Amino acid sequence: MDLQLILDQINSELRPLLGTSGGKVASYIPALARVSPLQFGIALRTCEGEVAQAGDSAVPFSIQSMSKMFSLTLAIRSLDEALWDRIGREPSGSPFNSLVQLETERGIPRNPFINAGAIAVADRLVSLGDANVELLALLGRLCGEPIRIDAEVAQSEADTGFRNTALANFMKGFGTLDNDVATVLDVYFQQCAIAMTCEQVACAAGYLCRDGRHPLAGVPVLSSAQTRRVNALMLTCGTYDAAGEFAFRIGLPCKSGVGGGIVAVVPDRLTLCVWSPALDATGNSLLGRQALELFVAKTGLSVF
Ligand code: GLN
Repeated sequence: MDLQLILDQINSELRPLLGTSGGKVASYIPALARVSPLQFGIALRTCEGEVAQAGDSAVPFSIQSMSKMFSLTLAIRSLDEALWDRIGREPSGSPFNSLVQLETERGIPRNPFINAGAIAVADRLVSLGDANVELLALLGRLCGEPIRIDAEVAQSEADTGFRNTALANFMKGFGTLDNDVATVLDVYFQQCAIAMTCEQVACAAGYLCRDGRHPLAGVPVLSSAQTRRVNALMLTCGTYDAAGEFAFRIGLPCKSGVGGGIVAVVPDRLTLCVWSPALDATGNSLLGRQALELFVAKTGLSVF
């Protein structure tokens, strides 16, 4: 299968749709609101190390909630089963920043990929050490080059993070968080502000298609059982209230972010990252979703 040719075809089919898709770039902070929607990038890396890319695959973007996959990886690695004492594993069916279920479920977030869940994961990481230093170190090892936080995005996340602050305080009230709310939120806001390219994300996520082993990381990143769990959560919860639709149309573990990126895993084959900033109503990249649908249609690669 000529993967480079397939990515080139997807790029040429979707590029003419840029600006006409009807999606909107995230506008809750200026640094994201001014990102041009007229961008589309796609990159993949196979288990054997073959790479392919097309379009704006080398342009850094704000990975936002895609970071939740990496923070979950750090937390599972250290805590394993104990992580699930205060975090659920069910799809929420609600928007990523929803507060509603926290009340009925006594402060236990439905899953680690909605904002409440990722904030609870950040709390565990704070208890374990210097969370963001660990996260950047992990990403640097996985990409083979340094990864940075965009300071302007991080500051804006903090300046406008009223709903996230509400989620954290609500969970603190229920005893879900052990640490100081401001410290936990600082970790969360900074992880959302990490900037990476499609090529870097496709490389960094490589352990997810290789049973937890990453070619550049040296030692295994996760055990094979832990890797299955992260993939299962990505499939069922990684794209929020569109997770059912993603499973139906694409059938791959995926994790999205409001920066317009989506990473997808084809177990035992490859990891793929698409980026296009215009989002649909569920906060997932519109063209990113279409690109993944085209990729699965052209390659037949899906877990189903
Ligand atoms: N920074 C965003 C938030 O906390 C991340 C959301 C997302 O990417 N879905 O709401």
